Amino acid sequence: MTQTLFKFDTVINLKIYGDDESANHLKKIEQMLDDVDQQINMSNKDSEIHAINEAAGKKAVKVSQGTFDLMKLSVDYAEDTQGAFDPSIGPLVSLWKIGNGGEHVPDANLINQAKSLVNYKDIIMDEANLTIKLAKEGMSLDLGGIGKGYAADLVANYLHDVQVESAIIDLGGSSIIAIGRKPNGEQWRIGLQDPDRARGEQLALIQLDNETIDSSGVYERFFMENGVRYHHILDPKTGFPTKNGLKSVTIIGGTATDADVLSTAVVVMDLEEGMAYMNQKQNVEAMFITEDNRIYLTSGLKGKINLTNERYTLVE
Ligand code: ADP
Repeated sequence: MTQTLFKFDTVINLKIYGDDESANHLKKIEQMLDDVDQQINMSNKDSEIHAINEAAGKKAVKVSQGTFDLMKLSVDYAEDTQGAFDPSIGPLVSLWKIGNGGEHVPDANLINQAKSLVNYKDIIMDEANLTIKLAKEGMSLDLGGIGKGYAADLVANYLHDVQVESAIIDLGGSSIIAIGRKPNGEQWRIGLQDPDRARGEQLALIQLDNETIDSSGVYERFFMENGVRYHHILDPKTGFPTKNGLKSVTIIGGTATDADVLSTAVVVMDLEEGMAYMNQKQNVEAMFITEDNRIYLTSGLKGKINLTNERYTLVE
């Protein structure tokens, strides 16, 4: 049974196979996704994250355990990636407005001002009281780089609890979880999106068993000005969209939350730093695509990617 939903600006495709209760499960999942929206979508005025942003520099806000845990994980990731992933990226996201229409390159003073407000070390978390406070007025959280993965994991946990053995959870084509195997017992074959082409055009196929896959790239949301592409992944150090020769990064393995964060963080690093960072991680692999259409893989992925598009070259 298949269902398509549109939530938090994302097309969500859910496929559940071989379970009489599928319709019931899909209804529960829809409710679960609405709850996530209430929790962490900063553009939803009723959400907990919106409340934290509104109180920036003023007071601490009490949140649910789920939101607290997600924020703690986000800050841990910010530390681990030395700020390449930073959940306090909000002021820069709001300034650049990429993907919201009418964009242009902001004034340098405004970029510097927004950049000075981005710092995960200024997120004050009180575990005993479950409160979060942003130290400075003007700071804001933006969980766009982790939210879809978090939602995908909640759905996957639910499906495991109700013992669904075969399903695909696809949030926007960039966060995908394959549960179990196809109903006929074969492995899932997931097509990897060609970063330069319309949605649905593939560059490679990968076989998955019970695994997550997440891609981030400079092609998803962007605008052009004077021949330069300004996209939605921002480097907290420069205040600008990243520009380091990487076109996209796909992460395979780990939880969907891990994969969502890592794909964004590694796009901010460059190929060399990102490769070194990913090679020291256990059970999670990465595929990097550079602007000159070369594909680089961490060691665990070698031999597992089936290239289906001759514009790309696999660098062994
Ligand atoms: P999508 O799959 O929607 O394209 P990504 O997982 O690639 O999303 O994350 C991009 C989003 O993450 C941006 O739209 C923004 O909300 C947020 N973001 C951008 N740069 C950073 C960063 N350096 N650290 C954390 N979040 C970021």
